[in-house]
Amino acid sequence: MTDSTKLSPQVRNAPTVLIVGGGPTGLTLACALARGGVSFRLIEAVPGPQPGSRGKGVQPRTLEVFDDLGIVERVIANGRMAMPIRSTAPDGRVTLSGAETLKDRPDVPYPASLITPEWRVEEALRLRLAELGGTVEFGTALHSFEQSDEGVSAVVVSGGETEAITARWLVGCDGGHSTVRKQAGIAFEGETREEIRMIVADVEVDGLDRDAWHMWRHEEGLVNLCPLPSTNAFQFQAGIAPGLDTELSLANMQSVLDHRSGRTDIRLHDPAWSSLWRANIRLVDRYRERHVFLAGDAAHIHSPAGGQGMNTGIQDAYNLGWKLVAVAQGASPALLDSYEAERRPVAAGVLALSNARLKQTLEQKGIPTNRDASTTQLSVGYRGSALTRDDREESAPLRAGDRAPDATKLTTVEGERRLFDLTCGGQFTLLSFGSTPAVAAPASGLRTLRAVGQPTDPDDIVDTEGHLAKAYGAADRTLVLIRPDGYIALISDAGDVSAVSRYFDAIG
Ligand SMILES: Cc1cc2nc3c(=O)[nH]c(=O)nc-3n(C[C@H](O)[C@H](O)[C@H](O)COP(=O)(O)OP(=O)(O)OC[C@H]3O[C@@H](n4cnc5c(N)ncnc54)[C@H](O)[C@@H]3O)c2cc1C
Repeated sequence: MTDSTKLSPQVRNAPTVLIVGGGPTGLTLACALARGGVSFRLIEAVPGPQPGSRGKGVQPRTLEVFDDLGIVERVIANGRMAMPIRSTAPDGRVTLSGAETLKDRPDVPYPASLITPEWRVEEALRLRLAELGGTVEFGTALHSFEQSDEGVSAVVVSGGETEAITARWLVGCDGGHSTVRKQAGIAFEGETREEIRMIVADVEVDGLDRDAWHMWRHEEGLVNLCPLPSTNAFQFQAGIAPGLDTELSLANMQSVLDHRSGRTDIRLHDPAWSSLWRANIRLVDRYRERHVFLAGDAAHIHSPAGGQGMNTGIQDAYNLGWKLVAVAQGASPALLDSYEAERRPVAAGVLALSNARLKQTLEQKGIPTNRDASTTQLSVGYRGSALTRDDREESAPLRAGDRAPDATKLTTVEGERRLFDLTCGGQFTLLSFGSTPAVAAPASGLRTLRAVGQPTDPDDIVDTEGHLAKAYGAADRTLVLIRPDGYIALISDAGDVSAVSRYFDAIG
């Protein structure tokens, strides 16, 4: 990888990053780069924003990312937390399950998953991107690219015109059919199971309340109608076994619903979007080819059971985003190697989880929901990553690599805050407890917070109810370094300030 001061003028004056694909993954990456002051272009093949509820489940960990990016209120305003599920068994028995929540936990600000259409998530990200000075170039498709020692030269097509774009890095956020992945020669290993299909559509519905996600279990397969908050529509989902009609017409959907629900009083009308989904379960063999990275569905696809796909793509982008910002600003390019090392195992875990959920759905054993500890993504972490350091026992509940927990009821000179209010914004934060010596010369971009008895300085926090010390298992001299993406980089219970300097030396 090239030192930025030695780049040719052509590359130095070009956008640093070319992002291909303006779905949730590409938009999240663009927001992270815009916030970090890194130049980029974001191209999107389709002419304008796409309809379609698709990934309608936003997990608690993704809400934390949205909080950090400053859009969580906008997203929540268009969604519903902890939507209950009303499930009707083949014998007519009805069960109502409230979504499990992690309510009243000072370390978890968003206690449940949120239902909102995917296009609303994209809309909120696009609005944030505009606030940060960025834009999506709709109607602009990647045609091809070549790599040199310095970066990437891409050919893009817009309105029949071709344009050459040179960039230091190219990130393919271009979905399951990724042109970037194919042209980079990265294998997409796994299987396509043509026999597992599902009609998905956004339709308006008469004769059904919007208080719950309605699910009917039938020997032919499930049918779901989930109200889509902030719209008049429901998401229709029906598994279509081999031999059944896959036509995306309203008449076919109505007939599937009537047959499986046993009701004739529910009428579907005004479909706004529909799609036939086929089970594709694949993971790339690598996330990077020299200056080219893959993120989101371009790198991993699986069944929507468990509601993980969009969330995993957003987390990919959030992981890669701060690393690209850091390297663009002079950190060691080796930092970028940690992207695949940290994210590929997570995607492999998501594939296993969604496969298990899909099997459960097909066999109709129990009610598959999108909400429990395995799907919140709060336990995703990077223990064992090259970017972790700690002096804790193997068995300690909180180690470097884990998600940095939140804590409420912190008193600062500006009033009561929660930790996430103080750590947001895409910087490293050094949190110190007790009698830790001050860090002599904090690295630039390092924010410091000190847990003290009485706040006198903007960096001081009083842990009024002890939630902070409890969440971090803090001892008298504990130091915690939190990464820009909200994971713990380093913990030193010995208060080893030099370990912090060594950490920054190591990542350059
Ligand atoms: C029925 C269904 C239900 C789902 N439910 C959930 C759920 O509950 N929770 C969840 O997390 N996920 C869910 N998902 C998955 C989720 O929709 C995807 O994981 C998510 O859209 C992936 O986002 P992405 O940005 O990586 O890719 P995409 O959203 O596919 O975006 C890729 C973009 O790249 C553009 N593009 C492609 N080629 C080019 C090119 N050559 N040049 C420029 N642009 C290009 C495309 O036009 C597209 O806009 C569901 C999916 C389906 C189908």
